[in-house]
Amino acid sequence: MTEKKKQFLRQAEKVAFDKEHRRKIQYNLGKYFAAVEKGLLRFRDFEKAREQASQVKQYALDNIDTLLYELVDNMKKNGIEVHVVNSESDVLSVIDQIIEQEHVRLVVKSKSMTTEEIDLNKFLESRDVQVFETDLGEFIVQQAGERPYHIVTPAMHKSRQDIARLYHEKFGTPADADPQTLTKYTRKYLREKFVQADMGVTGANFLIADLGAIALTENEGNAFMSFSFPRVHVAIAGFEKIIASYRYLSLMWQVLSNRGTGQSITVYNSIVRGPRRQGEDTGPERMVVILFDNGRTRLLEHEEHRLALKCIRCGACLNYCPIYQNIGGYTYDAVYSGPIGSVLTPFFKGFKEYGHLSFACTVCRKCEEVCPVKIPLPDLLLANRRDYVEQGLPETGERLVFKLFGMAVKMPSLFNVGLVRLKNLLIKPIEGKLWSKQRNFPEFKEPFHKTFSNSNKHGSKM
Ligand code: SF4
Repeated sequence: MTEKKKQFLRQAEKVAFDKEHRRKIQYNLGKYFAAVEKGLLRFRDFEKAREQASQVKQYALDNIDTLLYELVDNMKKNGIEVHVVNSESDVLSVIDQIIEQEHVRLVVKSKSMTTEEIDLNKFLESRDVQVFETDLGEFIVQQAGERPYHIVTPAMHKSRQDIARLYHEKFGTPADADPQTLTKYTRKYLREKFVQADMGVTGANFLIADLGAIALTENEGNAFMSFSFPRVHVAIAGFEKIIASYRYLSLMWQVLSNRGTGQSITVYNSIVRGPRRQGEDTGPERMVVILFDNGRTRLLEHEEHRLALKCIRCGACLNYCPIYQNIGGYTYDAVYSGPIGSVLTPFFKGFKEYGHLSFACTVCRKCEEVCPVKIPLPDLLLANRRDYVEQGLPETGERLVFKLFGMAVKMPSLFNVGLVRLKNLLIKPIEGKLWSKQRNFPEFKEPFHKTFSNSNKHGSKM
């Protein structure tokens, strides 16, 4: 078993039985579910909106080559410097050049999962550049020395008391400060950084081919200040964020905000078309867009998996996933967690190290039901499992267990082989490994067929 898989299983068991973790997640998700339900009432026909949003992304995928040419061409006409790069190190080398050319010492950053893929903060710090996350949730996890727990709500695993304690330790605010006080404190703290910053880094929620622009959607105004205050704006995005036209934005923004936070539309929505032009007195002097591959082409070439590139990173599949709710975001040990993360990460980081994530799914299909762009996530996870097996990655023990199980399923009479006491004796020594240290493996009391037919007669008791 790989070290990553062992760590995943250990952590999953630990977090699943952590009642405090469960309480915080359930509390925060409870508020999210209520907001989403309420938000749905504002749509006359949300299913139709989902279908249209799915088609917008499908069209973009089917025409990605042409649209990317159009995007890059239009961006250049708008005065944007565009880099199309392959790997993490390619992105970092472009950033390195900009740091040198522009004498960058302080960076403000708005929330961007793509920058997490390249571990941008660590790189900037290694180049003696100060970097400040400006989204409140990101700022909190940065101060705690942690990574985002969730792609939309990075500090979802923290209670207000946890955050008040953190601020007390870091900034000396009262240990019992309320959220309003802490938000005001952060606002004042970050205003100074926005003014001092040499460079602002953002992601892009959408890349708009016909405008040659990026679209950003947010609730705090921090992305707006990150791209408009500093001299240089760098936007880093996976190329799959592309859509053909700005005409689709009103639909895409709405389905994204309903599934992301339950709002009908997020508070600030910006279309950024280039650096400051002659006669304008605000905005950056230089705008750079880095379009990033990092394994996306591998997905694109795959007939089934390419559908994962339709994702608009709303986070809904994480929120509704029973596995995510129980084991939490950090257990995945990956930038993207939950169902979409389990599909993407083996392609981004390799099946050998991360293929096991594809098995963290009960195939309940809730994620597919809520996805605003109708990605068949469970089917993609099953396809990942198939690829994992075809690549010969399961260990010998695992292969043997499944072979025996396959035989038993084909010949159900095998379930009755062996005396009940013998089965219990054989199971006991490996119970902890098979099941969990926190629960006992149910004792065999009678032949399996008898238990099964009784449970069918009386309801569920197996
Ligand atoms: S897969 Fe669908 S539900 Fe999950 S984050 Fe992407 S768009 Fe949202």
